Amino acid sequence: MSRLIIVSNRLPVSVARQAESLSFQPSVGGVATGIASLESPKRRLWFGWPGIASDKLSGEHRKQIAAGLQKHGCRPVFLNSVELRDFYFGFSNRTIWPLFHYFTQHTDFNEVYWRAYKKVNEHFCREMEKQIKPGDKIWVHDYQLMLLPGMLRDKHPDAQIGFFLHIPFPSFELLRLLPWRQELLDGLLGADLIGFHEYDYVRHFLSSVYRISGCEPNLSQVMVHNRLVRVDAFPMGIDYPRYADSGKDPEVLKEIKKMQPVDYQRFIISVDRLDYTKGILRRLEAYGWFLRQYPEYRGKVTLIVVAVPSRTKVDAYNDLREEIERSVGHINGEYGTLDWTPISYLYRSLSFPKLTALYAVADVALITPLRDGMNLIAKEFVACQQDKEHPGVLILSEMAGAACELAESIVINPHDKESIAEAIYQALEMPRSERLKRNRMMQRRLSRYTVSHWAADFLASLDAVKNKQQSHGPEPLTGANRKTLLADYRAADKRLIFLDYDGTLVSFVKQPEDAMPDKALLETLKKLLADKANRVIIISGRNRETLTEWFGDLKITLVAEHGAYLRDDDGRWNEQVKPDNEWKEIIRPILELYADRTPGAFIEEKTFSLVWHCRKTEPDLAKLRTQELKDALLAMTTNLNIGVFEGARIVEVKHIGVNKGHAVLPWIGLQKWPFIFVAGDDYTDEDMFAVMPDNAWACKIGSGHSRANYRLNTVRDFRELLNDLAAVKPQPRPKSK
Ligand code: UDP
Repeated sequence: MSRLIIVSNRLPVSVARQAESLSFQPSVGGVATGIASLESPKRRLWFGWPGIASDKLSGEHRKQIAAGLQKHGCRPVFLNSVELRDFYFGFSNRTIWPLFHYFTQHTDFNEVYWRAYKKVNEHFCREMEKQIKPGDKIWVHDYQLMLLPGMLRDKHPDAQIGFFLHIPFPSFELLRLLPWRQELLDGLLGADLIGFHEYDYVRHFLSSVYRISGCEPNLSQVMVHNRLVRVDAFPMGIDYPRYADSGKDPEVLKEIKKMQPVDYQRFIISVDRLDYTKGILRRLEAYGWFLRQYPEYRGKVTLIVVAVPSRTKVDAYNDLREEIERSVGHINGEYGTLDWTPISYLYRSLSFPKLTALYAVADVALITPLRDGMNLIAKEFVACQQDKEHPGVLILSEMAGAACELAESIVINPHDKESIAEAIYQALEMPRSERLKRNRMMQRRLSRYTVSHWAADFLASLDAVKNKQQSHGPEPLTGANRKTLLADYRAADKRLIFLDYDGTLVSFVKQPEDAMPDKALLETLKKLLADKANRVIIISGRNRETLTEWFGDLKITLVAEHGAYLRDDDGRWNEQVKPDNEWKEIIRPILELYADRTPGAFIEEKTFSLVWHCRKTEPDLAKLRTQELKDALLAMTTNLNIGVFEGARIVEVKHIGVNKGHAVLPWIGLQKWPFIFVAGDDYTDEDMFAVMPDNAWACKIGSGHSRANYRLNTVRDFRELLNDLAAVKPQPRPKSK
């Protein structure tokens, strides 16, 4: 039975050390609750940092921690103080956190931090690798571990990996500032399913993938090295019943009551981690503005500010604390009286019963982050509004992910202090029936999509992606199919093997000239060629010069430019098609016109084709121009002996008789082959698949529909298979059937 492996920066169990003894305290935080409702601990493994720097622990302590955590289904990933400084307080909280929340002024682009981030992600990968078994489902959490899905994918190409980002994903214009944007996207795209809190983040992510990695999304899916990746929104919920049934603790209510000097006193609450993303300063300013605009409320309302200490090792947080405290003092000084303090300020974390009691008695929750991935406090407040006589009102920033689901709150722009002040007035004046109605609608939604539903929904979607990857296109050339292939190979005394090059024998790289064959590949080919039963043909869109340079020393048959040229065993290139290139003079000016009008576009001339490239063009413009160019060309080519083909960021116009299908036909017709194998990855290879006889093994590399009867996911899978074929010892064979 498959296991669920969770990985997050922190474990859901806090380890505390007092003198020499250790204690283990399970947390009831959001993700942990959601996961706990799904899987029994035996089938679940959770990796993360245990919360104490490893250099502050003796070897004995570490052992005890590992043993103690094991009882909770957890595995520690130990990090030392320097790693924590550079990876956690550095890259995670001084680079990614501010940048992804649109605070460029706080963003530190520091190479030392980046290297530490990479190193720690590798460290997590190594720790997990020891434990991962086939069939495990892996769920990686949050911005500290964005490289991990890619690293795990490299080690376990078939693993089922999900990733969830708990903070916003910024627009491309912000992400492009990051020197390591490509690596981050590559890391994330190692996952099969990437989840965000809301659809705006999905949009931003897909747009960045398109612009930076060049993979074109199709709805919420994107093909990455021929693997289908799904990107979707899963708004994280709360443990609704836990909040809805709380807040009635009489002791706590009494304590809060003591803060109420007069019976008609109204409470506004403001609860957040002390973080610059939460908009606390602007909120205070807006409250001051409210007291100024609505003097009748002076003495009758108190703002309770709970600022939970956070990341106190980062300067920006300490500076902010000082500013907030100055602002609180200023407002209290300006409007306070001997018997009334406008703001009651607490710099501490509250326990669950105190927090929920505060939520329950508040008349208004003023939650105004400048950017927030979700904001659970808003949801928790609404869940706690169960008193029908005294329903509270939520004022919520439109910049919080939660605003999409809590549309019945009073939604404000957190930068607009005047409208926040008006919203406070509107909330305090709102009739009870209206408050009840709004809360009920929000509560209905929150009680349905709880954190347990969220986790179950994410994992079900992860399964769905895997199924889709597998059902996409032809059957996998694995398991029994692979065994039959090997048996057929062994049994055959003559074999015809066609191999496409780019995307089949080697992976794509940014610069096509860098995709030269590696040593291991050349060795495999040599072994295949050493078996006299094999006729091996590399058939590529590359030109003669490149193929000669790369494979000139091998006694291998080469086909260049999709069949225009053939180099047989004698080592000489022969033209296969008579050049008839008059059409080029008609077509070239059109391509030139479109290249001139499209920054980044250029034309490549091949013997039998003209190729219009736009991979360096801004993607949306490239898409538009490609469509326009195709329309223009199709109108012109009807009477010419040429075809127009669209590939990955190219439009190719070529002689209709030059294609890989035509190129392979002479060999197939030459004799009856007991074994034919053909492998390719793109639309030009489909022409080969289409002309293969029924007994051929035609293998598409990657997913998607194909005329091939089998597929393998990656170049690496294919290379493994080719190695297995090459390892079959040549032997005297019985006559073919
Ligand atoms: N919280 C708490 N004690 C407090 C204040 C807040 O335990 O004194 C919890 C709160 O219940 C919520 C979490 O902290 O679950 C804050 O989550 P949110 O998504 O609002 O903001 P984040 O801190 O993740 O940015």
